[in-house]
Amino acid sequence: MSAVDIVSNIANVQARIAAAELAAHRPRGSVCLLAVSKTKPASLVRAAAAAGLRAFGENYLQEGVDKISALSDLDLVWHFIGPIQSNKTRPIAEHFDWVHSVDREKIARRLSEQRPLDRPPLNICLQVNISQEATKAGLHPDEVGAVAETIAGLPNLVLRGLMAIPAPATTLAAQRQPLAALRELQAKLALKHPTMDTLSMGMSGDLEAAIAEGSTMVRVGTDIFGARS
Ligand SMILES: *Cc1c(COP(=O)(O)O)cnc(C)c1O
Repeated sequence: MSAVDIVSNIANVQARIAAAELAAHRPRGSVCLLAVSKTKPASLVRAAAAAGLRAFGENYLQEGVDKISALSDLDLVWHFIGPIQSNKTRPIAEHFDWVHSVDREKIARRLSEQRPLDRPPLNICLQVNISQEATKAGLHPDEVGAVAETIAGLPNLVLRGLMAIPAPATTLAAQRQPLAALRELQAKLALKHPTMDTLSMGMSGDLEAAIAEGSTMVRVGTDIFGARS
């Protein structure tokens, strides 16, 4: 994958997002593009930033922290979207702007305690196991309300919304069902927690379905940076 390919991939993804916004009668620009750069070198992130992207998602802590420091001359917004071990929260709290993969109160408390006071509050999305798969990370939908309540009371976090990775599905209707369930849960919780303005759902394979169901942030890796080995 060269920098030139990245520029045309980004244009393609942005065109898909614009078409999906239009099809869903949603305002142009209502969906943010989070470029998922896990396993890809800092040089490709730099190329994507030169093409206009600002928000990048990382799954692996050390790799993410290395890229953040290699690219500190750029004005980027970094999102942690991978599994979190409770003894690894400090570097996340210190280096990232958002965390999408919070799925237990203990992690949230540690992130709040460890957030440096000279940085703005850390933006948090709760990860929901919306397809209720036995092996998947994320809160059961019935647990989300109580954890949202706790996070809303923590001083150095701001609860922004929900994130999910639905089970793969082949038809559009099957893709949309869990995405709709996440949207409904988000809408219900946002009545109580007005800072919840973010619905983090949609990846390379289902971003059209996610935008049709109200996603405000799609997380796209493969269709920007190419397949991961
Ligand atoms: C890897 C990853 C993505 C990107 O997936 P693609 O199918 O490559 O677009 C999105 N979200 C999460 C949480 C991921 O781990």
